[in-house]
Formats: sequence, C-alpha cells, structure tokens
Amino acid sequence: MNAIDPAIHVAAANIRLDGVTKTYGKLPVIPRLDVEFRAGEFTVVLGPSGCGKSTLMQMIAGLERVSGGKIMIGEREAQDLEPKQRGCAMVFQNYALYPHMTVFDNIAYSLKIAGMTKAERRVKVELVAKMLGLTEYLGRKPGQLSGGQRQRVAIGRAIVREPAVLLFDEPLSNLDAQLRHDTRVELAELHRRIGATTVFVTHDQVEAMTLADRILILNKGEIEQYDTPKTIYHRPASVFVAKFIGSPAMNVLPVSGDGSVLRLSDGQPVAESHLRGDFQLGIRPEDIAVVGTGGASSFNARVRYREDLGSHCILAAELSGTTIRITTPFGSEVPDRNVIFFTFPLRRLHLFDAVTGKAISGAFGAVTKEQQ
Ligand code: ADP
Ligand code: MG
Repeated sequence: MNAIDPAIHVAAANIRLDGVTKTYGKLPVIPRLDVEFRAGEFTVVLGPSGCGKSTLMQMIAGLERVSGGKIMIGEREAQDLEPKQRGCAMVFQNYALYPHMTVFDNIAYSLKIAGMTKAERRVKVELVAKMLGLTEYLGRKPGQLSGGQRQRVAIGRAIVREPAVLLFDEPLSNLDAQLRHDTRVELAELHRRIGATTVFVTHDQVEAMTLADRILILNKGEIEQYDTPKTIYHRPASVFVAKFIGSPAMNVLPVSGDGSVLRLSDGQPVAESHLRGDFQLGIRPEDIAVVGTGGASSFNARVRYREDLGSHCILAAELSGTTIRITTPFGSEVPDRNVIFFTFPLRRLHLFDAVTGKAISGAFGAVTKEQQ
C-alpha cells in the first residue's frame, strides 16, 4: 500500500472485557461484565435508559476508568491507556464539531494532529466526504448544516483516522424519523465498506434489529442476552428480553401447570406440559392466529379496541384478566365484531419462570389443544 491509498478500510480489533466493574461513588452501575465484541462485527448494545450503556462505551474509549477488571483491545491491555492510544473513535448523540472550522477542517483535524501532509489529508477527507455525501458541503461551517449533515460530519471525523474500533453512543437520537432511517441504512453500508469493529449503543429496538450482527441486551449493567437479532427475537432468554424486542411487545400471561396441562388463570387449557407450578407464558402479537369461527381448540375474547395501520391491524382483547395484543397479518380479513376467536400455535409459545423471568425450554408436550 502506498502512503496515499484511496481507501478507508481498517484492521479490525476484537474487544474483550474481563470482569469489568464500574461504581460511581457507592452506586454499582456495572456489577461485573465479561463479554467479547468480535473483530469486524457490528454489535448493538441495547437497554433502557440508565442501564449503563454510555458508561460501558466510555470505559472502552478511555473517557471513564474501570473500577475493576481488564479491557483488551486486540492484543493490548487497554484499561490504563490514554484514549488516543486505544485506536477507538467515538460518535456521540451530541456531535461536538468545531463551530469555527469548515467541514473539511473538522474532518481533517485529527489527520493534521497526526502529522499527515496536506496532500494526504485532502485525499482522505475527500474520500470520506464522498462516502457520506458531504462533498458539496466541505467549505461550510457546522452552523450552516442540518442536524443530519452535522451528524455525518461527526461520523466522517471518526472514520477518517481509520480506527480499528468505532463506538457510537445513540448517534441518531437527535434526528427525525426519516433521517434516522436513512442514516441507519448508510451506517450499515459504511460498516460493510470499512470493516471496523463497531459497537453501537441505542435504546431503539428497530435500530438494534436492523444494524446488528449481534445484540447485547443490558439490564442494570448486566447481560440479559448476547446473540444474533434472529435468536433474540425467536428465542428470548428472559421476559425482559421478550418484552424489549418486538412491537407491540410480547404478550405475557400467568399460567400454571399440574403436571399434564398448562392453564391460564381462568382455567382454560393452553398446552400439554409435564411442568408443575406457576409460570409466565409468552406469545407475540404477530404469532396469534385469528380464526373465523370458534372451535374446541380456540380461545375467544372480547375486543377492547382496534388500531388499523393500513398494512395490518392491532387488536386489543381481554383474555383471562390480561389485555393481550394481536397483530393481524397483511391482507387478512379482520372480523368486524366484538368477539374474536384465535389459537396460540404451539411452536410460537414461550415459557418463563414466574420468579426469575428466565426462559424455560422443552416445556411443551407434543400434543396440544390446538392439534387435537
Ligand atoms: P445509559 O447510557 O444506559 O442511559 P449511563 O451509563 O449513562 O446509562 O448511566 C448508568 C447509571 O450511572 C445511571 O444511573 C447514571 O445516573 C449513573 N451515572 C452515569 N454517569 C455518572 C457519573 N459521572 N457520576 C455518577 N453517576 C453516573
Ligand atoms: Mg447513554
């Protein structure tokens, strides 16, 4: 490779956290975290506000110290390194650009500090500007740009150094819905082209599902699940995950087992099962099958309200003392009456421990109410 190689492509590094803890004063924000973000993958860290996402990112970037444990970036132990020694670039929700500098200079600044020549800087900045659709704005100041353009400058500034690790902390939160979507698509494309190990923090499940190779779901600083979007959606490890991913959220109903059948709290049987005791039954709104007429295998419920969204309809109905939501598929006829009939396909049921909320596998017997 020559000195002015007109490509942005990095040697991605994996990031490993070994027993990382963080306390602010007496507040344990991260009790203990052991996790690896794989080289070149796009990992999304998802969790509710206050669960420790930003703290985690800042510890990786070196803006916050760990209270305990090790952070490995590539082969290097990084927890005591200065931020600039770690090979990470970070993009925040509040893109702090230099207001008095042009877009070109904002993007080029770190290259200048690193001692790159003017000619080299120009090649890199123009390449990044082209990737991000900023070519015609290079002469403007940040104040003359829209929010979306400014955020792109911040992204450009991060990638121009070709960091092995790219860290994003809710970078799209300030953008309107359309721009969020467009920028999301661009970020996915950018990741494919650059190949940096990317850790992207959000509380938005759609961003997580669409961007991630792997999603890390955090709850109070602890890992609820770390897996591919598909597995997280289809096999949530806990009620917390089940309710966090999917819209509307998964329905969760209390059930109890007598060693042969699981029943709703009003006594209606749901499925055969060898389990005894109390559990939480989960079924996604889109997995409930509305049927035309009632039968031995179906439930019935009174519709409380319906929301017609054009492509599909969301019904809210009362079942065994719980309001459940049912998403009807595109093009299906929704019966226009108060009482509807539906079945719970066995393969779509989830079962969770009543106390811990953890998923229980192999809960259901082969023969179901629905199959009888
Ligand atoms: P998230 O990014 O997931 O919303 P944060 O990592 O910002 O969460 O915060 C996690 C917890 O740590 C919160 O309870 C927050 O109030 C607390 N916290 C964050 N930064 C500090 C700080 N500098 N000093 C004290 N507490 C903090
Ligand atoms: Mg945050």
